[in-house]
Parts: sequence; structure tokens; C-alpha cells
Amino acid sequence: MIDKYLELCGYKPEEIKSQLPRVEKAFTILGLTDFDVERGQERISGFFDTNLKGVRRILGVLVRELVDLTLAKEEGGRWIYSSPPSACADILTAASLGNKDIHVAFPDLLFVLTMGMMFDKLDPIMEAAEGLYLEPGMAHCSLIQTRLGLYARNLIPRAVLQVSVGLICDENPKADASFEEFFGIPVQYLLRSQDKDWEESGRIQRHIEFLAKNLKRMVERVGEAAGGEITDDMLNQARKMARDFSKPMRQILEMGVNCDPPPISSAFVHLMRAINGMPLNRHNHEIAVEGANILCQELQERVNKGEGVVPKGSPRVLHGYVQSYVDPGIVVALEKMGISAPIEEVQLYEPDGRFSPDISGIEDPNYRLAAVLTQASIFNSLPVKSRVTIEACRRYKLDGCLWLVHYSCRPIMSDSYMMKDIVQKELGIPFMVLETDVYDPRYNRNRQLRPQLEAFAEMVKSYKASLR
Ligand code: SF4
Repeated sequence: MIDKYLELCGYKPEEIKSQLPRVEKAFTILGLTDFDVERGQERISGFFDTNLKGVRRILGVLVRELVDLTLAKEEGGRWIYSSPPSACADILTAASLGNKDIHVAFPDLLFVLTMGMMFDKLDPIMEAAEGLYLEPGMAHCSLIQTRLGLYARNLIPRAVLQVSVGLICDENPKADASFEEFFGIPVQYLLRSQDKDWEESGRIQRHIEFLAKNLKRMVERVGEAAGGEITDDMLNQARKMARDFSKPMRQILEMGVNCDPPPISSAFVHLMRAINGMPLNRHNHEIAVEGANILCQELQERVNKGEGVVPKGSPRVLHGYVQSYVDPGIVVALEKMGISAPIEEVQLYEPDGRFSPDISGIEDPNYRLAAVLTQASIFNSLPVKSRVTIEACRRYKLDGCLWLVHYSCRPIMSDSYMMKDIVQKELGIPFMVLETDVYDPRYNRNRQLRPQLEAFAEMVKSYKASLR
């Protein structure tokens, strides 16, 4: 059973032979039964186009990362963790390049994507967190609950350092502070300045400086935890590794935006973006790059033949603020209704919804990263975000907005309905807010959301027809 699953996840025959014992051992620790593996097969075949070799190879990267982290307690090594939002992945990767004993991961997101999305077996982990101190019914962020549940169930080694990113919410750093108290895990925080005018762009020099200095301190602190200095060369190598994957991923993303019809479900592009934001074990990274390059070629062939996931000329919408990490079926269902969602709000930058921020003239790597982060729409205030969203809808000629809201995320939840009002007033396009939980499978069944999705699809189709 597991060998068939690995085959579906792009493992080559010789890899299955060599890796099967480790995978079996990890699945036993995780409580994954034959039934779960069979269900896992059905899930990923239903969500993604596993006829594509590149898709299978990339899915396998997640399984490999899951196995490595699950067996880490017995295989040894020291681990440095971080979590979304992804701001320090390259710093973590650089730390792992300088010392073979250092491993890095975003354990919460990895388990959401594997135990949650692939196997639908995250519940015991969430319940363990709820049994400890992040109680149910209190709207705690489920990403943070996952993090706590992994420690509560003793599934992963304790980190030698937790890199805590507080660029969007305060719950993330507060939770990491509580882990420091409870489990003795040292934390280094990445924070940003919040003192700006309501309508002011985030790309303010004093903000960039504040964040760049925080990033510099982070590089030093991660280096200390790893037992050696992180040099500029190591950082540059880590960034090159990230680019090796993001380059073909970006081509795929642009095919989705520029080709009619888009050649692949944006649910898979979303998964690639999630993987791109996480630090990967070096060997797994190479497989991810191989998979992305293969997929790029496979999709180019589809584009040449005019094949895609929706009929040519179908309406397309902006997906805010982000797609579900546990239920790609939401987007797949929308595509089956003839609506594509090739762009997510989280990939937009000031001032006009472009995909790349302006970092011209900035040499220092920490200042460059700080400039990127301060221009990201998602890290900005409502007036800036709504301006970017409106410009993106115009720029990419979108016919509506589907706003999937992580209900337990205060910064995201609090302004979603205001965003809807502002965008609809300016553009008059259909805009639907769907409240759900993007990390917790218990709240996230596309079957539950289906009536709203169908209503939204009808609204978008009528809107598009009215323009003719
Ligand atoms: S509360 Fe929101 S910003 Fe904070 S970790 Fe959860 S999803 Fe991310």
C-alpha cells in the first residue's frame, strides 16, 4: 500500500526500495494506517493532476520532509524552526548549509500540508493542543495549535531556536513566547514597526531600516544557535537555492495568469508557493527543483495544445487572502464550475498589484528583503491593501474576488468585509467573503462551502456576460 502511495508521489523504483523502511517507520509513529494511506491516495489524485510527472515529484518532496522530521528524534541532529509568514526561510537554509548537524523546518505548515491536506489526519494533533492550553472554541489560530500539538504529542524534536515572525499578527510571537515558558525553547523575534499613517505606503525608509536591522540580528542569532557564523556567501547560496525553485514556479504561475485557459489548477500553484516559502532539506530541495522544471515543460506542452482546467474564455477571479492549505478541493470545485482563480492576494505588491516589488538601488541583502516585505500587500493597512487589490483586478482583468478568510486570524478577519465594501464600490464586481479555517481540516470541507461557491460562480458568470 505505502509503495503505491510513494509511486503516486513520484518516488522512483530505486527510491521506493531504499526509502520504504524509513517511510513505514515514520507512518507508524504518525499513526497512519493502510486506510489513511488509501484515503491519502484518493485525496491527492482528486486535488491534483497526478498524471503530470512534475506534480508527483513535487508531492513527494512533502512526504520526504515529513519522514525526515518525524524520524528526527531517533536519527539525531539539531533543529531550527520557523513558521509562516515566510520571511526567514533563506536564513534557516543558510544555517543548515554550514553544519550537517543542523536541520531546519516549518513544522506546523509541513504537518498541515501532509497530515492535514494529504491524509486528513491532523485532528489528533489539534486535539492534543486543545487538551494542553490552546482550548477549543476560543478562536486560537489553528496554525499555532498545530505547532503546539506537535510538541504536546512529542512528535518532533524540540528546537534549539524558534524563529518567530510577527509581521502580520501578534498571536504568533505571543504563542512562541509561551512555548519558551512551557517547553524551554529559545525564541528570536522578527518584528516590524507599525507607526505609520493609515493610508501611507509600507515602503517607508524608517520601516525598512527597522526591519533590516531586525533581520541582521536574526542572522546573527540563528548563526549562534547553529554553532557558527552565517556568512554572506552562505546567505547568497541559500537565496540561489530558493531561486532555483522559484524560477520555474514563477513561469508556471505566469502561465496560469497569462494563458487562456490556464494549464494547471491554481490549487497546485498555491502548493508550490507554500513549498517555496519553506526551508527544505538539501536533497529534497534538489528533487523539488527537478519536479518544478519537469512540470514547467509539461505545462508548456499543454499551453501549446490549448489545454487547460477551465473552458477557454472562462471568467477568472482574485483569490484573497490565501487559498486553503488543507482543502485544495475548494479551488478545484470552483474550477469545475468554470471559474479560475489564478492569483492570490498574498502574492501582490504595492502599488499596483504587481508580482515583484521594486528593490532597485538597494544592495544590502537585509535591506533588500526588508523592502520586499514592506511592499507586500498582505503586510499593509486596509487602505493600501484595498488599493493594491483594486489595481490588481484592473491590471489582470479579473471578474470577481473570492475572499477565503481564516476566521481565527484577527488581522485578516477584521478587515475582510471592509475590503469587500471598498472593492465593490470602486469596481462593482462580485465579491464573496467565505469564513473558514485555512489550516484546520475540521472546519474546512469544500462540501460545506459548496452552496456559497455555486452562488458565487453564478454571480461571476452573470457579471461577465453583462459586459458583452
Ligand atoms: S493569526 Fe493569522 S497571521 Fe497569525 S499565524 Fe495565524 S494565520 Fe498567520
